[in-house]
Amino acid sequence: MSTGNLTINLKGVATNWATLNGLTAETVETSAVVKADGYGLDAGRVARTLYHAGARHFFVAAAEEAAAIRREIGDNVNISVFSGHMRGDTEMINDLHLIPMLNSFNQLARHLESLPGHPFGIQLDTGMNRLGMEPSEWEAVRDTVVALKPSLVMSHLACADDATHPMNRQQLNLFRAMTDGLDVKRSLSATGGILLGPDYHFDVTRPGIGLYGGAPFTDANHVVHLSLPVIQIRDVAPGETVGYGNSWTAQVQSRIATVAAGYADGLVRTMSNKGQLWDAQTPCPIAGRVSMDLIGVNITNLDHDPQTLDILSPSQTIDDLAEISGTIGYEILTSLGTRYARRYISQ
Ligand SMILES: *Cc1c(COP(=O)(O)O)cnc(C)c1O
Repeated sequence: MSTGNLTINLKGVATNWATLNGLTAETVETSAVVKADGYGLDAGRVARTLYHAGARHFFVAAAEEAAAIRREIGDNVNISVFSGHMRGDTEMINDLHLIPMLNSFNQLARHLESLPGHPFGIQLDTGMNRLGMEPSEWEAVRDTVVALKPSLVMSHLACADDATHPMNRQQLNLFRAMTDGLDVKRSLSATGGILLGPDYHFDVTRPGIGLYGGAPFTDANHVVHLSLPVIQIRDVAPGETVGYGNSWTAQVQSRIATVAAGYADGLVRTMSNKGQLWDAQTPCPIAGRVSMDLIGVNITNLDHDPQTLDILSPSQTIDDLAEISGTIGYEILTSLGTRYARRYISQ
């Protein structure tokens, strides 16, 4: 076996959903965000797992992403689409029974003309300036829209991973000003917002990263484990170098393991000479540049020759690896390569 072994603990995903669900009142619905193929972990499998855990509402970024979920769990759940009703999506929205979160007056007009009577939701912009109707745009269509009974009115927080950020309260206040007193279900919070407390929960929450074991949900279960096979081990004398560009030089007599994975598998070059792999609880530093398919690891401190080394494990979470790589856990997950042998642990 010369590819990495990626183990995805679906039981952990189910537990994380249940824990996040338990942080809100009984009357609050906890949905699940499974965009980008379930943050790279397989949207169909994740959705099926969460359906069994009790989730009945899923969010995707694009209408196309809903097909895998319908295939896995059928018509029994709501699937909402953040990008709304795009040109060319009408048939898919109709056939797959999707609920577009309409983002603009244009999308609203397109939806009402092409699929009159078909469910929809509304996304409002409360300051992030990414998706959703501006306050003035909303004001102009609000009464007409509310009379049509949208399934949900939602917005998204820009800084919810930082509980002390004043932007959170600012967006909350604007969301309330735009929606208080209307007879609609409301949703403001992703993972970060759930942790900000009940003021932010409204009727529906939309956790993504917390389900998959990432910050800011620090109590999350570990979900991904990535173990890389050692292809070769060699002794390197003081003064010898390792890898492209001679960027690592042995200071003492060293042992170097070459493992089978590289930047083509989502293990980015910025972790060259910075990151570490793990032999159970023992860290072994990356030696030299990360290549496309290979990484050199300094195993001088080990008293044995390992067959594999872990790069994601309880010793090094997606957030730890993200920190080393100069990114966030979300990007580590969605970059996980297609070459790994994937194994799913379910119920
Ligand atoms: C991605 C996304 C979510 C989920 O966010 P997490 O931080 O992963 O929990 C929720 N709502 C919207 C609009 C999103 O784009």
